[in-house]
Amino acid sequence: AKSAGKGRADLCDPELVRVSTERVQLEAALRRAIDDGELRAHYQPIFTVGEGLVTGYEALVRWERPDVGLVAPAGFIDVAEQSDLICEIDAWMLLRACADLATWGRESTSYVTVNISPRHLARARLVEDVVRALEAADLPASRLVLEVTESLGVDEARSADQLQALRTLGVHVAIDDFGTGYSSMSRLHELPADLLKIDRSFLDPERPGWIEALSLIIGSARAVGLRTVAEGVESPAQLALLRELGCDAAQGFHLAHPMPAQAVMELDLPDVRS
Ligand code: C2E
Ligand code: CA
Ligand code: CA
Ligand code: CA
Repeated sequence: AKSAGKGRADLCDPELVRVSTERVQLEAALRRAIDDGELRAHYQPIFTVGEGLVTGYEALVRWERPDVGLVAPAGFIDVAEQSDLICEIDAWMLLRACADLATWGRESTSYVTVNISPRHLARARLVEDVVRALEAADLPASRLVLEVTESLGVDEARSADQLQALRTLGVHVAIDDFGTGYSSMSRLHELPADLLKIDRSFLDPERPGWIEALSLIIGSARAVGLRTVAEGVESPAQLALLRELGCDAAQGFHLAHPMPAQAVMELDLPDVRS
């Protein structure tokens, strides 16, 4: 089918028809799944690098599909992002994550982070969704962190305004997957953010100059007052290096895998308290 040639819109291409039919079916199934309560929140603990205490939890969505099992975001987030479904998912997660964090300890200072898609970020509805979730859980704004990517969304005026409005409320903002998008190190100070999540590709020992790059990011972030969180820490050596470079926090399979809320409650880990 590929040999049909570029620029020719072959509407009868069977492969194209198959792919788009699957997409439409998946979208319909997902829409129903949201209504039927098939979404689940898993949480990956985030640790301070210095003391090894749990400082926060990243909320990660799963779809518990009857007859299929637990589906990871890779199996449906792309489709959701093509439509408003992603806003529904993010809004659901905001409510869920704030409620769960409130259950784990009101006296704690730990935070929960929720991934916000660029589409949701560009919506005026976001501020409303966030306020609703905080109020429903009776959670202070400072215990919620929104993870946004540095691509598109953040640079658009509307998105930047919304982030600023949310930060004024006391909500914190993290730049997710830092280093994979458009922002450059010299523009770090312009980011409307409190935290920088360093993409796990920077922890790859096969990457030439990875230690220098990591060191530069951590040092530059610190210089402009951004806290750093390293993603994808899979070995003690990576953690030791992060400690040496002065990274603030870390998450990854070496420390803890994402887990259901119930497992977080049963975690026998020290948590940061004030
Ligand atoms: P992300 O925000 O970069 O989340 C981190 C991903 O890395 C998670 O995958 C996590 O399970 C995985 N991970 C954690 N530690 C390690 C490690 O040590 N090594 C490796 N190789 N991977 C690690 P997950 O849960 O499959 O999520 C994939 C992506 O889906 C997320 O990437 C995020 O972009 C998106 N996503 C997840 N939940 C939501 C949500 O509620 N809303 C939105 N808009 N996006 C979400
Ligand atoms: Ca994230
Ligand atoms: Ca990330
Ligand atoms: Ca990502």
